[in-house]
Amino acid sequence: MSTNIEWCDETINPIVGCSRLSEGCKHCYAATAAKSSRLQQFSQYQTVSEWDGTVEFVKSQLIKPLHWRKPKKIFVCSMADLFHANVPFEWIDQVMAVVALCPQHTFQVLTKRPERALKYFRQPQLWVKWYEAAKEHLWGAIGENFGGLINLQQYFIDQPFPLPNLWLGTSTENQAMADKRIPILLQIPASLRFLSCEPLLEEITLSRYHNNGIGYLGHKIKCPNCGVTGINPPDKYYQYCWQCNSEMERKEPTISWIICGGESGPNSRPCHIEWIESIVIQCQESNTPVFVKQLGANAHHQGQRFKTRDKKGGEIEEFPEQLRIREFPVLVRD
Ligand code: SF4
Repeated sequence: MSTNIEWCDETINPIVGCSRLSEGCKHCYAATAAKSSRLQQFSQYQTVSEWDGTVEFVKSQLIKPLHWRKPKKIFVCSMADLFHANVPFEWIDQVMAVVALCPQHTFQVLTKRPERALKYFRQPQLWVKWYEAAKEHLWGAIGENFGGLINLQQYFIDQPFPLPNLWLGTSTENQAMADKRIPILLQIPASLRFLSCEPLLEEITLSRYHNNGIGYLGHKIKCPNCGVTGINPPDKYYQYCWQCNSEMERKEPTISWIICGGESGPNSRPCHIEWIESIVIQCQESNTPVFVKQLGANAHHQGQRFKTRDKKGGEIEEFPEQLRIREFPVLVRD
């Protein structure tokens, strides 16, 4: 599906349906959209429209990226949470098999349930499950590229883990969800971890538990030889020390990208532009790419309503100048 989500090129919805979990879900756009006449013409949305945790698998959506040659950033499951408790791991295996089969694309997965994502990615020998999923369910779409199952098996044996083209994010709409979900996200094996601070419901401090002020952001590294420490710039990966040229220590897992924005839609809750500014400053101080998506439909600045022509405050020209930032991560390894 083409999309108006500014930080991806496409969305695919191999799974649809969900249920509300936290404050960020209160005005879930997907729950509203699923009931719309535009989507009710598709049977999968008729089944899940109560948004009570019923989920549906839509294979025709899953296989779309296999046919796209041009590299795209693909948001997986804008109408679901891939790691909802009702989504069987076998369905997730199929999604991950497609990620592995499409190295030309970047797949962006955002969850409010990182604890289930951790459980999934901690399973041993995931490549075997992904190979089985591809063999059972995708062979019709990919068979001619591989010639035989033995080649397909070798392809999955050769896959790096974590998959380099999977970006895994969690939603942190307030401090409580940041404190709960970020430490779990950091435990998940992932090439790139990100946060979506949207709908931003209050000021969030991302350096809360750290004395050095860097917090979860940036890529802290330390040379075991000369002891120099620093934050790895997001566009470079220093394998060797810039001071003494020794091999560097492995980085601590960190957050490599932040998306932030206010709430849109009817009855939007207020978003104070100062909260967005705070996130931008924290990102800039730690060399973390930040993407300011929108000010929201109920933006405030210095205690006053901040009106925009665009109803979700998503036109970058209408942002205060210091917030006109839409960066993407370049680094794709940990
Ligand atoms: S997790 Fe996402 S899709 Fe599910 S109810 Fe919350 S906002 Fe909606």
